[in-house]
Amino acid sequence: MTTFVHCRGCGVQIHETAPTCPKCGAPQHLAGASGAAVTGALTSPPSDYAKTQWYRRRWFLIVSLMTIAPVAALIALTGPMYYDAKGVVKTFPKNFRTSIVIMSVYYLYTLTTPVGSSQQMLLFLMTLVASLVMGFKR
Ligand SMILES: [Zn+2]
Repeated sequence: MTTFVHCRGCGVQIHETAPTCPKCGAPQHLAGASGAAVTGALTSPPSDYAKTQWYRRRWFLIVSLMTIAPVAALIALTGPMYYDAKGVVKTFPKNFRTSIVIMSVYYLYTLTTPVGSSQQMLLFLMTLVASLVMGFKR
């Protein structure tokens, strides 16, 4: 059976067994070779994981918070936030929005300060509790 794939370089349809793209010449079989390497890396993680850069280990958290936190803060700052209470549209109290902004700023602050994970977790919980207390106090 003949299968066609898209070129990694230019996106044109080429035969799946083609070693390089006939149009742009980009190599096509990187996935097969590096796929095995990735599998090997996953089954045997490096022992010096803790020594790698903190931002490389926490990239997902960083990316999530860097995108979610500012957007949440922006929404909270620019107007009322609504939620659905059994079919009735309600708004969050202003204090709740303030706490979202505070938490967002805190998130971004902690991401730039690589401290110990347990210390950071404690700070995070304290901020969370403070934000909730602030948010629901009307
Ligand atoms: Zn190509």
